[in-house]
Amino acid sequence: MKLVKLIANLGYGSRKDVSAMFREGRITDAAGDVLYADDQVAHEAIRLDGEPLDPPAGLVLMLHKPVGYTCSTKDPGRIVYDLLPPRFRLRSPLLSPVGRLDRDTSGLLLMTDDGQLLHRIVSPKARLAKVYEARLAADLRGDEGAIFASGELMLESEKTPLAPAQLESPEPRFARLTLTEGRYHQVRRMFAAVGNHVEALHRCRIGGLSLQDLPSGQWRTLDAHDLEVLF
Ligand code: URA
Repeated sequence: MKLVKLIANLGYGSRKDVSAMFREGRITDAAGDVLYADDQVAHEAIRLDGEPLDPPAGLVLMLHKPVGYTCSTKDPGRIVYDLLPPRFRLRSPLLSPVGRLDRDTSGLLLMTDDGQLLHRIVSPKARLAKVYEARLAADLRGDEGAIFASGELMLESEKTPLAPAQLESPEPRFARLTLTEGRYHQVRRMFAAVGNHVEALHRCRIGGLSLQDLPSGQWRTLDAHDLEVLF
């Protein structure tokens, strides 16, 4: 790929903007020698204003999403892209959330520009575990675990029952729920279906990946080892 296109696709600017960066000598190799738009240079050897470029296409990152941010690009309020470098919103291919979290839900959100990987993570066939922690408005009755595990629970306006889900409740108003699918507002609707109400919701794990000590509002890119842990 031509260097102008490569750098523009990373969201640093339009092709016209990037051509100007070349003319201004802002794009160099690692030794500081000025590069020209027609040079053949590997992505990792390029520097813009002395800084390495963002990772190329195939980027996967985890974000510790705080409450109050939506996963949409269009919402007039705060959006998860506000927590990333502004150019991440302009990358091509687009960086998309992998299975959304509601505005009022916090926790582990993966984002990628790799459509195949996205599909592999969200596909119900992958049966990748997603673990949620919920603070509830009322004490659990005791039969919710069996109902969620039955594989027979039907949510309103759904055509098929939910896949079996696993419930742990270390405290009467605290639930840890493991799902293998991701329907709209699923956790909140599941608790509503058994007469309860979710007051706070946090996704703590997807597959083998958890947030560990990543602070709320922060993100990091995933490497090959993380992806092994994920699946
Ligand atoms: N289930 C919900 O109800 N909300 C989320 O954000 C994720 C799962």
